[in-house]
Amino acid sequence: MSECIFCKIAAGEIPANVVYQSDEMIAFLDIAPVAPVHIVVIPKKHFANVSELSVESDLSAKMLKVMAELGDQNCQTGYRLVFNTGDDGGQTVFHVHGHVLGQRALQWPPG
Ligand code: AMP
Ligand code: ZN
Repeated sequence: MSECIFCKIAAGEIPANVVYQSDEMIAFLDIAPVAPVHIVVIPKKHFANVSELSVESDLSAKMLKVMAELGDQNCQTGYRLVFNTGDDGGQTVFHVHGHVLGQRALQWPPG
C-alpha cells in the first residue's frame, strides 16, 4: 500500500522510534502518546483492521504475544492493549495496529 504511513514505517521509508522488530512485525513509540508508555505494534504486511488480521490466526497470536511482552516489560503496574477499529472505534490509520498503553491509571470506561 504505497500511501499507507505504517507500510512506510515497516519498510523503513519514514523514521520511527523502533522498540521491537521481527520478520513479521515492528513496534515503535506513538508520535502523540496518550500515556507514559504508548507503543504501536503492527504486522509488516498490510491489513486494514483487526477483522482482516484475525483471519491469519498464527500472525494474530504472535502479535498478541509481542504486545503482552511489551506491556509486561514496560508497565510494572498493568497496561491496556487496544485495537481501535473503524470510525466509532477511533481508528485513524487503516493499517491494523495494537496500542500498548500504561504507566498511569487508565480510565474505564474509555471516552
Ligand atoms: P488509531 O487512532 O488507533 O488509528 O492510532 C493511530 C496512531 O498512530 C495514533 O495514536 C497516532 O498518534 C499514531 N501515529 C500516526 N503517525 C505516526 C508516526 N509517523 N509515528 C508514530 N505514530 C504515529
Ligand atoms: Zn499499510
